[in-house]
Amino acid sequence: MTEVFTGSFTQQEPIPEEAIEAAVAVMRSGRLHRYNTLGDEAGETALLEQEFAALTGASYALALCSGGHAISTALRAVGVQPGDKVLTNAFTLAPVPGAIAALGGAPIYVGVTEGLVIDLDDLAAKADSAKVLLLSHMRGHICDMDRLMEICDKAGLLVIEDCAHTMGASWNGVPSGRHGLVGCYSTQTYKHVNSGEGGFLVTDDPEVAARAVILSGSYMLYDRHLAAPEPEVFERVKYDTPNISGRMDNLRAAILRPQLARLADQCAAWNARYEVVEDGLGGTPGLTLIDRPAAETFVGSSIQFLLLDWSADVIREVVARCKARGVELKWFGDAEPQGYTSRYDSWRYADHAPMPKSDRILKGILDMRLPLTFSLEDCALVARIIRAEVGSVWQGQS
Ligand SMILES: *Cc1c(COP(=O)(O)O)cnc(C)c1O
Repeated sequence: MTEVFTGSFTQQEPIPEEAIEAAVAVMRSGRLHRYNTLGDEAGETALLEQEFAALTGASYALALCSGGHAISTALRAVGVQPGDKVLTNAFTLAPVPGAIAALGGAPIYVGVTEGLVIDLDDLAAKADSAKVLLLSHMRGHICDMDRLMEICDKAGLLVIEDCAHTMGASWNGVPSGRHGLVGCYSTQTYKHVNSGEGGFLVTDDPEVAARAVILSGSYMLYDRHLAAPEPEVFERVKYDTPNISGRMDNLRAAILRPQLARLADQCAAWNARYEVVEDGLGGTPGLTLIDRPAAETFVGSSIQFLLLDWSADVIREVVARCKARGVELKWFGDAEPQGYTSRYDSWRYADHAPMPKSDRILKGILDMRLPLTFSLEDCALVARIIRAEVGSVWQGQS
């Protein structure tokens, strides 16, 4: 009998009851806007920021309307100007180069390795060509952050981390987002906490934090923030920082607070699923699993593997055969952007140099979400299906 998987790769868990109750309470109050507070009430958004700062160990935290907006706010807050070049990953999601383009900046792409992280040799070679690196921990893969910071510090490169897939992860015990000057996170449905849309940024730099708060659309109500710098820092920046509305509201914040409290358990549940799929795929001929270094504590909310040097038609056949058995693989190698996947050469609003080494990797990247609605048995079944289909296509080839 041919096994078929019937679960949904886009189905996340329901919002916890406690979070639903908190959201209903905000709606009953009518005070959804973050600055609409009564008396000495702090408001859900301000409390959420305080809790996120504590979770990451950052001095300051700001909640925003999306992860992409958190990134463009961070770029503005560190001083990126129209026309500036910004180094970033060739392998990332479209909102990352999009955030650079949003402020009239120009991305310079840095290559990807077989470990699916930024190529540090390529970074070292390009480090003098920009003042800022927007580092994307794409699909949760964290590069050697000690070496990366060494390269960047030496070149005077400011680092902004895109932690859309690394909330809850760390490198050598330091939380992701806490190596560079600013860390940015997403709370969109497919990331590690779910408010539909939303994002955070964290930093220890008081001026960057104050500018980010004003940029987010705080008007002159910045003293209502509980995870922001002292008023005198705002005094220095408030007249020359524009208000680019992008706040989070109390409703989303209410949904997120209980989810943040249980983030560590959720991460453990993702990793248990990741491990089952990884074990199930190990040793499949022609399929390369991604090495995870010992210093990397990752969150296995998705898994990637490489079909390195397979032709496009043959990879398409694997994807189609898995899909016919209910397993949805996303392929980053397609010449045309599909759904969420696209590549540096799909972003035609920005120039790029040829990247043959990265092209070889990108052509072979397959990606699969691991929602927590999958049981461990589901994960074992999914791995068996991929293994069988990759195996028979591989045999058919040789
Ligand atoms: C989702 C995502 C973002 C942007 O987050 P949004 O909240 O959807 O704007 C940025 N970078 C990466 C790698 C992402 O996956």
